[in-house]
Amino acid sequence: MQTEPRRARRSRYDVVVAGAGHNGLAAAAYLAGAGKSVLVLERLAHTGGLAVSAAAFPGVAARVSRYSYLVSLLPSVIASDLGLRVELRPRRIGSYTPTGSTGLLVDTGDDARTAASFAAVTSGEADWQAWQRFSAATLALAKRMFPTTTEPLRSRAGMRALARDDATWEALIEHPVAAALEQRFADDTVRGVVATDALIGTFARLGDPALAQNRCFLYHVIGDQTGEWKVPVGGMGALSRALEQAALAAGAEIRTSAEVTGIDPDGEVRAREGDDEYAVGAGHILANLAPATLAPLLGDAAPEHPEGAQLKINMVLSRLPRLRDSGVSPRDAFTGTFHVNEGYAALDAAYAQAAAGHIPVVPPCEAYCHSLTDDSILGPQLAASGAQTMTVFGLHMPARLFRADPDTARDEALRATLRSIDAVLAEPLEECLLRDSDGRPCLEVKTPVDLEAEAGLPGGHIFHGDLSWPWADEPADVGRWGVETAHPRLLVCGAGARRGGGVSAIGGHNAAMAILRGPGR
Ligand SMILES: Cc1cc2nc3c(=O)[nH]c(=O)nc-3n(C[C@H](O)[C@H](O)[C@H](O)COP(=O)(O)OP(=O)(O)OC[C@H]3O[C@@H](n4cnc5c(N)ncnc54)[C@H](O)[C@@H]3O)c2cc1C
Repeated sequence: MQTEPRRARRSRYDVVVAGAGHNGLAAAAYLAGAGKSVLVLERLAHTGGLAVSAAAFPGVAARVSRYSYLVSLLPSVIASDLGLRVELRPRRIGSYTPTGSTGLLVDTGDDARTAASFAAVTSGEADWQAWQRFSAATLALAKRMFPTTTEPLRSRAGMRALARDDATWEALIEHPVAAALEQRFADDTVRGVVATDALIGTFARLGDPALAQNRCFLYHVIGDQTGEWKVPVGGMGALSRALEQAALAAGAEIRTSAEVTGIDPDGEVRAREGDDEYAVGAGHILANLAPATLAPLLGDAAPEHPEGAQLKINMVLSRLPRLRDSGVSPRDAFTGTFHVNEGYAALDAAYAQAAAGHIPVVPPCEAYCHSLTDDSILGPQLAASGAQTMTVFGLHMPARLFRADPDTARDEALRATLRSIDAVLAEPLEECLLRDSDGRPCLEVKTPVDLEAEAGLPGGHIFHGDLSWPWADEPADVGRWGVETAHPRLLVCGAGARRGGGVSAIGGHNAAMAILRGPGR
């Protein structure tokens, strides 16, 4: 049996990538495919970073997408360039939002059914018509804007000209998104459903003049020119595995349990594997690291620490819970995004409570069952038994709430979130939880502080830091790739790159292109 050498095979590489998140793997695949010698160093024992699947519950044959779970932002062009053998499957239902004994169903394949649901919930046609107009406008924006995410940066004016829709540009880019939602939609539930796209992993008020919520909204509606969020078949780990295979097949060397301990931006990376410390030379260094992780490795002062604001809960259910609404099946309701207490006013109240230092009384959150669209993540017996995985993503749970007493606060956040979910169901969710081989309910919960500790994610911020607009803020950056740092040989290739947030491989692609093609000016 061949034994793995205990350190990198060579003393110098064309490119050393720090971090084997899906972006680092994508960069390695592009660069090795172009003939560069590439070394990837990953601190953890596995690759994939926040895009991984895990058998989270002992004795239960279910592989849950532990952190990220849906894909929209991966450009088809990257998947085809790298020959990724991964299926992204559309969900049959867009969303369902329970409201009392009825609910708002968005059936993306059946406009008549959706229109009927809008009529029942909003008592009229105006919001349904506004929804269709708004969806058409964001779709047009997606088609024009998204292809530029894998090109050198345009100027703001250049992007506005490309968008060719001044009204939508003003509404989504220039002014807080709250005004657009309030002008277009009358119903609190409808406003809330649209608004959640602005608040995923982003702790902001919808009317905040700093516009972090607008940037979050934009990325949530332009993905791969449709804004549709699809299910990665086999779980999120399947995507990272496909990227890893592409990198290895192209000749990249990937070392896990290999922590980068220091970076000399002139071309040297220091690493540690067990008690073995070594240095490798690099023509270029790519950092698949959050800016707050990178700075100390360079010996720089850390930038302002980012703050994540979500609660992630992974569960396996023995069966789907019953709903209060007899007009929709639990299968339909949990296939798409199941919005829980995410009305417009409720979102604002939860923000205010969290900003005042409290876990929201009725936490807004959204749930979905991956296994309803793709049951390949369950063992055959478990699938046949009717078991389902359920993912919950809670909003407005900023890291600051969990710093002083992480265990107590996590417990409080979990209880409040389960109460919030139960309030819209016909039976308690906990009664539907499967038990693992130790008799414990199949439920794991991750606060931002947990993510910081176990995944090394600064502040638990899912995008490595607040998102930035997908164009150059400064004239000097026009024609660059949004991956550059103060050091010519050091590039950022992860979520912290401009346009890099989410599972997209865009940061990795763009860093590779900055090396292979140089600035596009
Ligand atoms: C709970 C949660 C839910 C999310 N849901 C979604 C979703 O559904 N859809 C979506 O598009 N996005 C989602 N996201 C965001 C998305 O997962 C991330 O933005 C994306 O995966 C980041 O990928 P990356 O490759 O840039 O970085 P990461 O995945 O963070 O990878 C960075 C890698 O660097 C390694 N590393 C760190 N320090 C060192 C060091 N010193 N030496 C060596 N290696 C190091 C880390 O271990 C890690 O493997 C979610 C994130 C979270 C946390």
